[in-house]
Amino acid sequence: MKPSFYHMHEVHTFSSLKNGPNLLVFSAIHGNEICGPAAIQKIIFRLKKGLIPLDKGSVTFVPICNPLAYKKGKRYIEKNLNRVIAQQPIPKLYEEKLASHLIPWIDTCDYLLDIHSYEAEGPAFVFQDTVDKKTKAFAQCLGSHTIVTGWLEMYTAPNAAVINEGDTVSYAHSQGKTGVVIECGQHNDPNAILIAEKAILSAMSFLGLTAPIKKKTKMTSTPLTVKGYKVFSKHQKGRFVKKWKHLDPIKKGEVIAIYHDGTQETADHDAFIMLPNSKVSLGEEWFYLGKRTS
Ligand SMILES: [Zn+2]
Repeated sequence: MKPSFYHMHEVHTFSSLKNGPNLLVFSAIHGNEICGPAAIQKIIFRLKKGLIPLDKGSVTFVPICNPLAYKKGKRYIEKNLNRVIAQQPIPKLYEEKLASHLIPWIDTCDYLLDIHSYEAEGPAFVFQDTVDKKTKAFAQCLGSHTIVTGWLEMYTAPNAAVINEGDTVSYAHSQGKTGVVIECGQHNDPNAILIAEKAILSAMSFLGLTAPIKKKTKMTSTPLTVKGYKVFSKHQKGRFVKKWKHLDPIKKGEVIAIYHDGTQETADHDAFIMLPNSKVSLGEEWFYLGKRTS
């Protein structure tokens, strides 16, 4: 692939004269996830206009982390960018080159907010990978009513069907940073833009970069916490038995999906189905099961 417009990142930094935390905001790590870039554009406009004064610290936005995939409306071009965020001795694939350009931004931040959306219909939620107090507080400040935990443990379990590594937040944690992913709902849900915008504004306020947010927009209840415990990869042709939504409750023994050869995937416990994706390729994550922990 020849170097082109798609071999650069648009980056915006707003920096206060007063020292403080550096918040990094990524979006469109997956090119078909459009809510983050739209929300960031609105916030940049307001920052430029002085409508959201920055009291201290800095905020850096990389609104389109995968520019070519974004242009094509695809999840990725050569490889899932959220599986290659790691130091690559010689980056070869397009997404590996993007990753080596994104990593220095993570290295210099204090907090990372990575904005995504997903394929199925369903509510917004925050991924909280680690249970340390700092990450928990950051995850809870974003205004989402659901927090999903257990993701890393699920992937490192001995029977895990697929390996999850090279994602933005794992890399951030490996460098001593605090980071979370917010999934703002279905890819094309217009409400996802508002959720992304609220999450960024809440993060800036939580870190003291901007003034406290007025009470009426603050979350009033403790979020629902669901812990993922099993990942299912699609190992042969098959289909879901119905159009599942993210966080649909499911009964023990209920059939979730049927393979071409007639074998079935069923729930081993009363649980929630998570991130069902009817469009995955063979070998990729198809859906997950999780249990409520609070
Ligand atoms: Zn994504």
